[in-house]
Amino acid sequence: MGQAARLFNGSAEQTLYGRVTPTSEQRQFLQDQWNAMADHLKAKLADWGYPISTWIQGSYKYGTLIKPVHKGEEYDVDVGIYFSWDPQDAQASPTAQQLRTWVQNALVEYKQGVAEITEVVDPAKERCSRAIYQRQFHIDTPTYHLDSAKDARRLACLSGAWEDSDPKLLYKWFRDIVGSDNREQLRRLVRYLKGWAAVAFEETPEARPSSILLTVSTAEASNELWGARLWAIADDDALIAIVAKLYERFIRDRKVSNPVDRNEDLNRIPNDAWDAFLTRLAVLNDAAETAHVAEDEASAALAWEGAFSFLMPLPETDEVEVVESSSERALMQVPDIDIGVYDRKDGSLLATYRNEVPSVPKDRWLVFNIVNRHVVPQYADISWTVRNDGEEADHIGDLGHIQRGISMHSVGEATAYRGKHYMDCVIRLNGTVFAVRRVPVYIKTDQQKLLTQSQRSWMTLRTRKGRRR
Ligand SMILES: [Mg+2]
Repeated sequence: MGQAARLFNGSAEQTLYGRVTPTSEQRQFLQDQWNAMADHLKAKLADWGYPISTWIQGSYKYGTLIKPVHKGEEYDVDVGIYFSWDPQDAQASPTAQQLRTWVQNALVEYKQGVAEITEVVDPAKERCSRAIYQRQFHIDTPTYHLDSAKDARRLACLSGAWEDSDPKLLYKWFRDIVGSDNREQLRRLVRYLKGWAAVAFEETPEARPSSILLTVSTAEASNELWGARLWAIADDDALIAIVAKLYERFIRDRKVSNPVDRNEDLNRIPNDAWDAFLTRLAVLNDAAETAHVAEDEASAALAWEGAFSFLMPLPETDEVEVVESSSERALMQVPDIDIGVYDRKDGSLLATYRNEVPSVPKDRWLVFNIVNRHVVPQYADISWTVRNDGEEADHIGDLGHIQRGISMHSVGEATAYRGKHYMDCVIRLNGTVFAVRRVPVYIKTDQQKLLTQSQRSWMTLRTRKGRRR
């Protein structure tokens, strides 16, 4: 079993899977919203005289939906709208543009009665209309002609074109490719990779792989590696193998044919962004290879952090000490961090804590500061990663962020969401982790008075420098 299996999808306080996957309450909320919209559209659009049906598609259908991970991102839900008619009957055939206008108008009208909808995007997109909701999500409504006799579907484009596109066929392909025993694990693997895509392409959004590209290429890699027999392999080990396979594949050939329509290339990353994609995939592959030879959970987690950033949880500890194998000596003393609590940025100091903030209200300004700077090597690369947790951060879709720089001994952060969060300080030199200090920060709304800190001893994990031989 891989060293980080517990942190991927096991018993850890936080898991990578838990951090990227919507809760059942969140899924239920989305389902209620799209059901209500689908019911309304079905009733309204029936006025045009064609039988109407709807079908949920996309990530929600595939079971690979992930949470929004940055502030401002949204859940993406796709509800297909199907108009049925017999194509032989020329008189009864509406145009693609008519269908799109009817759906767009019905959505605009629906918005009038639903306070949660903030906008119906106008003009509509080429392949769908979009309704944006208040609570970090939108619903897309791709619109199709359904030929029931032939069980065939084509997508109505705004430009007037009909595109051969059958979401049902591709879904069936995905559902059946790895066998029912492995389906849940395949879904988890796709979710991990979508999480990676959400954090690794912030600077180069044009190089970000689409959901469908990751879904199809991951399913194909799984099928090549293990087929339909039961895999019985831990998630992190499975991901290591998948990433190696994807890297190999994409270096050789960038094309990803739609498995149910070989003429369609699902890879829409533009040519001039392809190198940026490959470089980020190389970083992920390197993290996976390092995790593969890691001696223990802490070093595996720190390797994965290189690709998954704040999404990757670290082991539940206060500090990680890194020892040299030959001498058993720690590379450096784990530094202490003082946290000043201010009423606002550049405001007045209310309290100071060490290595932990036992309780602080929202809307305060925290300054994290390495106290014993002399223990830190010169030119050390210091990263400060915020790992948010709890319902509030989840609802906003803000799971964390990272600041990193040479000799960055101090950083500031606002307190925004109720819950237990971490500020993780990782000190590296020439790419090697030298020490980690995890600062838990408890943000409470009912706690206006700042507590004095009670003494406790810090839990230390020891890990070995370098790779397992
Ligand atoms: Mg969509």
